Amino acid sequence: MSGTNETFIVGLIGEGITASLTPPMHEREAAHQGLRYIYRPIDLLTLGRPGTDVGEVLRWGRDLGFNAFNVTHPCKQLVLAELDDVSDDAARLGAVNTVLIRNSRFIGHNTDFSGFGSALADGLPDAELDSAVQLGAGGAGAAVSYALLTAGTRRLTILDLEPARAADRAAALTHLFPGRQITAGTPGDLPAALPGADGLVHATPLGMHSHPGLAVDLDLLDPSQWVADVVYRPVDTELVRGARAKGCRVLDGGRMAVGQAVDAFELITGIRPDPARMHAHFTELISQGR
Ligand code: NAD
Repeated sequence: MSGTNETFIVGLIGEGITASLTPPMHEREAAHQGLRYIYRPIDLLTLGRPGTDVGEVLRWGRDLGFNAFNVTHPCKQLVLAELDDVSDDAARLGAVNTVLIRNSRFIGHNTDFSGFGSALADGLPDAELDSAVQLGAGGAGAAVSYALLTAGTRRLTILDLEPARAADRAAALTHLFPGRQITAGTPGDLPAALPGADGLVHATPLGMHSHPGLAVDLDLLDPSQWVADVVYRPVDTELVRGARAKGCRVLDGGRMAVGQAVDAFELITGIRPDPARMHAHFTELISQGR
């Protein structure tokens, strides 16, 4: 139990986030920690506001006594211009998903990358990370590739349907991580890129309830490889099930979703939550169809 008398007021700013599982995950963990903690989704679509209004929402929050916000699509880059300070990693990554309000100042962090990093460490312990292939170079992909390189990956191949997006990400990461071998391509390069890689990260929307399908030919996978998916609705994507059936070690997208919440909770409260308890709660919420 915590001894703090503070009441934490936290919000999530983004589009279409009314059903996000992050608010109940934070609130349940806070209750276990003996904290008074209120976490509300602030859905820009419901409010009829564009993502560019994220700074205005932050300032309302500050004036109304909020302690912090998570920010998500489409605000993770837009919010950068509104901040007084940014953690080194979030600045390098160019995206923020957590804003702390301290002495009326806005301080940005990124727990998507750190959450994926701890998901990898917890969910695939001892996995060889030397070389990896990543499908998808969008928002989640940016956090994942930064996490892989931070964890020590030396050879990373980034493939995206939009060749320019993969190339831009590879160039930016080469600048941030000199000496690493970071290459870009399209999904057509997968048969050449995958053999010899330690693992595959899938960071496209394919496999979501709303985007059913599979971006990877399962025949290309070797049982010695690990496979990580960022998609978490459903948790057991076609890729996760197929890779598991092939004998690959698998990390589902729920681990990253919980990991970002664990790290954000700690930044906001200064208290390290119980990751296993938050993961169990996440699984419970998903199984209830939330
Ligand atoms: P995004 O739109 O920013 O990026 C998706 C990228 O995938 C785009 O660049 C697109 O061109 C590319 N793409 C689409 N189909 C492809 C294919 N077949 N092969 C290669 N590239 C392809 O989306 P995002 O925000 O990065 O989200 C991607 C997924 O990640 C979504 O399912 C989202 O729910 C999930 N996500 C999970 C977490 C988590 O915590 N687990 C966090 C953020 C996002």
